[in-house]
Amino acid sequence: MSFTMNESVGITIDNVGLRFGNTEVLKGVNMEIKPGEFFAFLGPSGSGKSTLLRAIAGFGPTPSGRILIGDEDVTKLPPHKRNVGMVFQSYALWPHMTVRKNVAFGLEERRVPKNQIDDLVDEALDLVGLKHLADRRPSQLSGGQQQRIALARTIVVKPRVLLLDEPLSNLDANLRVQMRRDILALQRKLGLTTIFVTHDQEEANTTSDRIAVLNEGVIQQMGAPVDLYDRPANRFVASFLGTANILDGAVDAADGKPCFRSNGKISIPVTSDVQGDACLVFRPQNAAIHQAGVAPKDGEILLQGAIRDREFLGNVVRYGVAVGDHYLLVDDIHQNGHSYLEPGTAVELTLPADRPVVLGKV
Ligand code: ADP
Repeated sequence: MSFTMNESVGITIDNVGLRFGNTEVLKGVNMEIKPGEFFAFLGPSGSGKSTLLRAIAGFGPTPSGRILIGDEDVTKLPPHKRNVGMVFQSYALWPHMTVRKNVAFGLEERRVPKNQIDDLVDEALDLVGLKHLADRRPSQLSGGQQQRIALARTIVVKPRVLLLDEPLSNLDANLRVQMRRDILALQRKLGLTTIFVTHDQEEANTTSDRIAVLNEGVIQQMGAPVDLYDRPANRFVASFLGTANILDGAVDAADGKPCFRSNGKISIPVTSDVQGDACLVFRPQNAAIHQAGVAPKDGEILLQGAIRDREFLGNVVRYGVAVGDHYLLVDDIHQNGHSYLEPGTAVELTLPADRPVVLGKV
């Protein structure tokens, strides 16, 4: 027998707001999560990710606006009538029950016939690769195994959507990488619409079809991971998703062509519609670092500066370079035996003109 889920459904968040006392924790949140999508809520601690996830599950105060699962408005339904599955950071397994009993619990509550329960539990445990541990108790399992049991217990009742609240935070780094792959593989196999709450951009980037970046209860940007990284909509997204050089300045078209200028030292031709006050964003790997005297290629901008410091990050060496009043980060790929430039060295940076993103001031 193979484990099949119900048909995938989407989730609609329509102008959802929520306050705790005087604090507005969610502010006019709108999103459409597609059937079968792996979607992440990403943002710093306190940005409202869990509150939004819990509102979808039906925990906590009823928000303003509407939440739909498929076509059904669930905004005012209690959690047990929503048929959503939620996995928590803390696993929340029953310590006195065996693994098998833990996974069977939701089925027993739903009065599924006993002979079907055994088969369903076996299949769910098989899916998470832990059938052989069915007779243990949670305390006899590692953290990763406990989280797999929590997953099995959640999917065995065939929820309409899967909600994961920081599920990997209690695991060590290597196990987190393995678990996020396993969760994604399971999600793809089942086609189960999934929302994953995390503050870790790497976790969101590696698992999700799309990400909503939240800050202070407001969606800052939504999109595929690469699009958010390459074309951040604002300063917050640019700096939250990886390291970014963010330069303040202004765009003018004094020479007939738009140009971003900053502190008299930097002028970079741009193709943006933005005019006036602006900031220019590029990643440390967008620019290349050379000892003085390089000839820039067509379409490259040349910036002159001096190395202030450097950090060895393993895959790259990250140089901090003073260019006028600016301090810019530039990565150089590390290879075995590479020799590094010393602080104080005069350097030139080349930056392809089409790499930076120009953001208007808000
Ligand atoms: P995140 O998941 O992004 O870390 P949360 O959704 O947990 O953020 O919290 C968002 C904000 O709401 C925080 O400022 C938090 O202190 C507040 N908050 C969360 N739950 C409650 C609650 N039950 N009572 C009062 N304030 C809360």
